[in-house]
Amino acid sequence: MSRKILITGGAGFIGSNLVRHIVQTSDDTVINVDALTYAGNVHSITDLTENDRHIFSQTDITDAGAVQALFDQHRPDAVMHLAAESHVDRSIDGPGQFIQTNIIGTYNLLQAAKALYESKPENERVGFRFHHVSTDEVYGSLSMTDGGFTEQTPYDPHSPYSASKASSDHLVRSWADTYGLPVLITNCSNNYGPFQFPEKLIPVVILKAIQGKLIPVYGAGDNIRDWLHVQDHVEALLAVLNSGQPGETYNIGGNNERSNLELVKTICGIVDQLLPIEQNAAIASSDHAGITKYEQLITFVSDRPGHDLRYAIDASKIRDQLNWEPQKGIEDGFRETVQWYLDNEAWWQQILSGEYRMDRLGTGKS
Ligand code: NAD
Repeated sequence: MSRKILITGGAGFIGSNLVRHIVQTSDDTVINVDALTYAGNVHSITDLTENDRHIFSQTDITDAGAVQALFDQHRPDAVMHLAAESHVDRSIDGPGQFIQTNIIGTYNLLQAAKALYESKPENERVGFRFHHVSTDEVYGSLSMTDGGFTEQTPYDPHSPYSASKASSDHLVRSWADTYGLPVLITNCSNNYGPFQFPEKLIPVVILKAIQGKLIPVYGAGDNIRDWLHVQDHVEALLAVLNSGQPGETYNIGGNNERSNLELVKTICGIVDQLLPIEQNAAIASSDHAGITKYEQLITFVSDRPGHDLRYAIDASKIRDQLNWEPQKGIEDGFRETVQWYLDNEAWWQQILSGEYRMDRLGTGKS
């Protein structure tokens, strides 16, 4: 039976990939709720504009009245909550908006979902889910020899970003324990793939290389992250929404640990192959004319405060219970991602020039 799924953050990186997948592969209707902050981009969902099963609402989840009105109007069968302030560096420079969106915004959604759930007849309550999409960063940092984070790993967040996400996870769990709201929580490792905002590591590396600019790497580049293609994350989210046990948490990871330096060099190597330096006019006209490999653009910068050394995920629960495993090989995934940025220059140029922000009100409805 087709459902109405209210998805927050559907103009962001993971959200736009999720919304597109649902609209293209199911009969479900998506109510896409996004404030279009600097990280939201109508150009990431323009292909969905004409689709009757995609209803976009430019709504800020920190506005409790607006959130309640949306729930009253659409009465969704499920909620997938992705909207967040998501960039660690920004959380260090200005934590306030992280508290507002990630904590207060989640609270507003929980309250609206609880009221909706309680107003539903018994037969409609059965399938209702509130799926909260979170991060592995809530668990803190691992040493080089620790096993991966499990669903039992105690929370130990270190940045305002991860602390605000941890806080929202606790709120969601408490709405299940206290009010019986059927919630699901997923904690995922670092994603990469198409439509990722160019402030995050992989797009930064690709775009700096393409443009012949220095590629900044924190510290000595030895922090380790686990990488997962966004399409694998989308499929994990749907496996959890459709088959997860209410009240349960599922860790999602790619089994692909890389040090940042190793990752940056790998991406540079792929750019070497897909856009050979001698064919790149931007290099010839840059301060770095004469380099023979993009990795020569790497420059080490002062480390981020509170920088967690290592994240790794033990994803055996979702594999064993929901039969989900990542499908995308890391080499193919990285190569396709570099190719996507090479093929979609108009998308990222609008962001780098700031033009995309002017399009938000004019073309924001779809
Ligand atoms: P993103 O920054 O690309 O997108 C966030 C979206 O939320 C944007 O479209 C933005 O406009 C919207 N938004 C922000 N504040 C809002 C508000 N107050 N009201 C309504 N909309 C608002 O983020 P992403 O990388 O796609 O991450 C999505 C979710 O997944 C986040 O909750 C994040 O914590 C989680 N997550 C991300 C990763 C990752 O590697 N990117 C990994 C694990 C978990």
